[in-house]
Amino acid sequence: MILRDLLLEKSNPMITLGNKLLKYEPSMYDDLKKWLDGLRLTGKAPRGMKDEFANIQFLQKQVDMIEKFPKMTPDDNFNIGSVFSWWDKETIQKIVDKLSKVEGETDTLKIGTITFTNKSTINFKKFQQHSNYIAGELKKLKGFHKKALKGGLKIKFVKKDECKSKAKYKGDKDELYIRPDRMEKGDGYASLIYVVLHELGHRFERKVKSYNNVPYTTKYSKTQSFDGDEAFAELFAISHWKKDYPEYKKQIAEFTKMVK
Ligand SMILES: [Zn+2]
Repeated sequence: MILRDLLLEKSNPMITLGNKLLKYEPSMYDDLKKWLDGLRLTGKAPRGMKDEFANIQFLQKQVDMIEKFPKMTPDDNFNIGSVFSWWDKETIQKIVDKLSKVEGETDTLKIGTITFTNKSTINFKKFQQHSNYIAGELKKLKGFHKKALKGGLKIKFVKKDECKSKAKYKGDKDELYIRPDRMEKGDGYASLIYVVLHELGHRFERKVKSYNNVPYTTKYSKTQSFDGDEAFAELFAISHWKKDYPEYKKQIAEFTKMVK
């Protein structure tokens, strides 16, 4: 090891911690969580680091699993140790160099009363863009649409493994899951902001009030789902852009009278 490396190691706690983890034991579980917290786990793999990046994401998955299932302990999970056993100090150096989080780049943003989380593959810049855009649009909501924001809103950008459809409203967590990779461009039907309004419709039903016999509109309004009443969610969204949906004028009028 040359002097420069020694100095670098001394000055960067992420390297010290990473090197310690090379001899991973379950007692180091908290150190592992701390180390992973300091790394960027979303976006694209840095050039030439596809394997390491996938392995780091794998480690995070193992941690998520231990956190999710209270009966599972770090002792049950020897997968973590095996990843570290493939690595050496050089790997740690490379990972810390290329994947340390830049200061200020978090995966959580709070804008007004809305908390955004990024667990998808979009990078921080895109995450920030999407969050600002959604927060700006939701600020414009009025009347019954605005009521759906009650008590603060949580929006999480997720990957396929957490959400098979474009989006969903997780009632038990009171959280909107959005797949940014599945959105149509612009602000029309099935766009990012449209989908947010649709999911807010489900939230409205759960947090404010639900209704029976909501009229059908779009093809999607006739589908069955676990999220709630799709006919309601679709009308909740299209009634926000009523001029764009003249074909549903009658249903929108009926719906607005019912909900407000
Ligand atoms: Zn829905």
